[in-house]
Amino acid sequence: MSLLDRREALGLSALTLAGALSNSATSFAGASLPSGLSGDRFKAALKDLRLIVGDAWVFADPEAILPYEKSYIPDPQGRHIPCGAVCPASTEEVQAILRVAGQYGLPLWPISTGKNMGYGSATPATPGQMILDLKRMNRILHVDPDLATALVEPGVTYQQLSDYLAEHNIPLWIDVPTVGPIVGPVGNTLDRGVGYTPYGDHFMFQCGMEVVLADGQILKTGMGSLPQSTTWQAFKWGYGPYLDGLFTQSNFGVVTKMGLWLMPKPPVYKPFMVRHHKMEDIGPLVEAMRPLRIAQLIPNCVLMMGAAYQLSMFKRRSDVWDGEGPISDEAVAKAAKANELGMWNSYFALYGTEEMVAAIEPVTTAALRASGGDVLTEREMNGNPWFHHHETLMRGGLNLDEIGMVRWKGAGGGLAWFAPVAPAKGEETKAQTDLAKQILGKYGFDYTAAWVIGWRELHHICALLYDRSDPEEHARADQCYNELVVSFAKKGWGSYRTGVSSMDLVAKQFGETNRNVNQALKRALDPKGIIAPGKSGIM
Ligand SMILES: Cc1cc2nc3c(=O)[nH]c(=O)nc-3n(C[C@H](O)[C@H](O)[C@H](O)COP(=O)(O)OP(=O)(O)OC[C@H]3O[C@@H](n4cnc5c(N)ncnc54)[C@H](O)[C@@H]3O)c2cc1C
Repeated sequence: MSLLDRREALGLSALTLAGALSNSATSFAGASLPSGLSGDRFKAALKDLRLIVGDAWVFADPEAILPYEKSYIPDPQGRHIPCGAVCPASTEEVQAILRVAGQYGLPLWPISTGKNMGYGSATPATPGQMILDLKRMNRILHVDPDLATALVEPGVTYQQLSDYLAEHNIPLWIDVPTVGPIVGPVGNTLDRGVGYTPYGDHFMFQCGMEVVLADGQILKTGMGSLPQSTTWQAFKWGYGPYLDGLFTQSNFGVVTKMGLWLMPKPPVYKPFMVRHHKMEDIGPLVEAMRPLRIAQLIPNCVLMMGAAYQLSMFKRRSDVWDGEGPISDEAVAKAAKANELGMWNSYFALYGTEEMVAAIEPVTTAALRASGGDVLTEREMNGNPWFHHHETLMRGGLNLDEIGMVRWKGAGGGLAWFAPVAPAKGEETKAQTDLAKQILGKYGFDYTAAWVIGWRELHHICALLYDRSDPEEHARADQCYNELVVSFAKKGWGSYRTGVSSMDLVAKQFGETNRNVNQALKRALDPKGIIAPGKSGIM
């Protein structure tokens, strides 16, 4: 198979490759280089990087960097192809790499486990960046069973952390995103990802970072800067301005250690499913859920899953729909019913002692029944794969079922998350659902979406599923995504997170002052623009 064929197989069309080459000022062995860096200077930089990490851990030939190019998001012009990758094994090596990168003007795109799937995976926001792959830094540095805290390096996966707790018989739970086994807490938290236990807002439960700045200095946030600190993982805020947020969804530093809080395993865990049967039920459902979440009667991040999203996990689109255009509500409802699902399927859980759960259960279930839902438990849903999947997630269990959704349409594996935020109000939730459905439908795509309720807001997680191997559909998905971003912003709804191909567009919606402040911080902390140019629209 030629290199071109392999790129095609990975979902990079000939157009993509041609675009990548034409976009670059210079190229090296077929990969684009950042503007201003000649092939000779790039080769010299590679030589210096090899002196730091060893020959085996610097990749620049096109075959070796293919794994870093694989992405699900729309990229019809091939603007997100890296020029190579470097894999350090320690904080000291990261410091040395940043110094070399500064010297040559070589931009570095840091990744932890590099599986930011549906947001660009490991690919950079602008062409020709070198991936700074931190997978070799994968030590669990400390777990404190009494304080229920952990300190980990970027390459640690959730699977590794879970195995560690099991091996050491520590009765603490982790909280995982849906693709937990293959991703890790550092990358997920730095992109402000979510999971589904009461510790689901990962940045809220993060405590203390070690950050390498662009000039190679090391900053420890929170209480970590005190030489003999014993509270680095126990107290988030430290003294003076709170800095940790600056290093999430940003390009102001490279995080080399991160603290997080773990959840004590409760004596009783009881999962529930609530089934609503009509699309318009999303309004009353959210109205019923909001007070339960704000009062913490339901303590976990609740997923309210649309039926088409649920079906996409275990079915192919062709099993459910052979008509033209987006799948109809009737076809979704029919397939949902055949699989014991409703049009909305919400998953929540109660945690505590027998007495606590017994006291709270009637309050929560009565409110949700009053909103028109059937409230179901393990007794009724035992053996149902969707219930099993969500029951696993809400206790921090590891499960990869959901990845099946990238096969919903065609063979090309196309997925882009459009993730606007809504206040936890029924009317606005319904309005967002209608708008997303209308725009997706206009471009021929299905409304495969879910809502995750935090305390006072919801993340509206719309999976734009398309066939990446079809160039026309690929380009259409890109246009559709852009229209979603702009149309939602006009209504006052911004995204909580986005993929590398839409970072600038999303940043624009937040206005000039916001952009200028971010840019001023960037100039102060990374004047040469070495770390991840383009991340969140910041150059
Ligand atoms: C089917 C499916 C389901 C998913 N479900 C969820 C879900 O439930 N919740 C969720 O949050 N996501 C979900 N995702 C999206 C994504 O796969 C996860 O968020 C994943 O955890 C991110 O990848 P990662 O952990 O490997 O992070 P990485 O890819 O390593 O990092 C993410 C980004 O953070 C920055 N970064 C990473 N490390 C560093 C560092 N050390 N220093 C500075 N910056 C850094 C980079 O910009 C990087 O691109 C899902 C994806 C799919 C396909």
